[in-house]
Amino acid sequence: MRRGDRVTAYGGIETGGSKWTCAVGTGPEDMRATATFATGAPAETIARAVDFFRDGNQVAAIGIGSFGPVDVRAGSATWGHVTTTPKPGWANVDLAGAIARELDVPVAFDTDVNAAALGEHRWGAAQGIETFVYITVGTGIGGGGMARGRLLHGLVHPEFGHMRIPHDPDDTFAGACPYHGDCWEGLASGRAIAERWGAPGHRLDGEHVWALEARYLALGVVCVVAVLSPAVVILGGGVMQRDGLLERVRADVDRLLAGYVDAPEIVHPALGPRSGVVGALALAEELVALRDDVRYEPAER
Ligand code: ZN
Repeated sequence: MRRGDRVTAYGGIETGGSKWTCAVGTGPEDMRATATFATGAPAETIARAVDFFRDGNQVAAIGIGSFGPVDVRAGSATWGHVTTTPKPGWANVDLAGAIARELDVPVAFDTDVNAAALGEHRWGAAQGIETFVYITVGTGIGGGGMARGRLLHGLVHPEFGHMRIPHDPDDTFAGACPYHGDCWEGLASGRAIAERWGAPGHRLDGEHVWALEARYLALGVVCVVAVLSPAVVILGGGVMQRDGLLERVRADVDRLLAGYVDAPEIVHPALGPRSGVVGALALAEELVALRDDVRYEPAER
């Protein structure tokens, strides 16, 4: 894009432990191109994303919502890196830097769940809501959100999945988290369900399976409610697609709060599985809006 050209599109990348989704557009009603591919080794996976944007999909900026942990601290020497992930090969990878250098575009970088939160705030279930959380319950559990209209950052970024919640005394499963064993993710993620019961969640129908899952999810949600006072709790991710699970979690949250404070609205993401990549477009748009005007000037090489 030449200096002075009007911005016409943004790029978004949602990186996950199992797949990446790339998109060009300006929002959920204007997705001009998308691509999804499996997460392989870092160099080849980054190259596939670069090829997607080079292949006629030119953008003014790219937003990345990444699996983590990641470094999102402005000014940090390792900003834009995936940091301590147990995913083989991905620890200490300069993800944002590689994309920015290869494509010569400004890059905004945040967690996958903060990107999803931003997408839901802009176009989905949290429109007009200043303080809310987005929690994904998939292979792992992640959480992000906003407080007073700003995405949650701090020491690093929130890691809701690694909260400690009470381990049900009748649950003999030790927990699936490689760092903590029976943290929230260790007890209630899709990986935990599969390891506890010996089959993936979509093949499990027992009442005891889903009663326990709802209880564990509600215990974590109640902690988040107590700390952050979100008006809305958005529960996304593959595990939450289970019929009736959201309703069970609502009921258990009500029971656990015991009328002490009002329960927040607990809802599915309005954008479905697209919250993250659409939110990544919004990250890119916000980055451009922060610059002098809505134009892109390539960096000096
Ligand atoms: Zn953990």
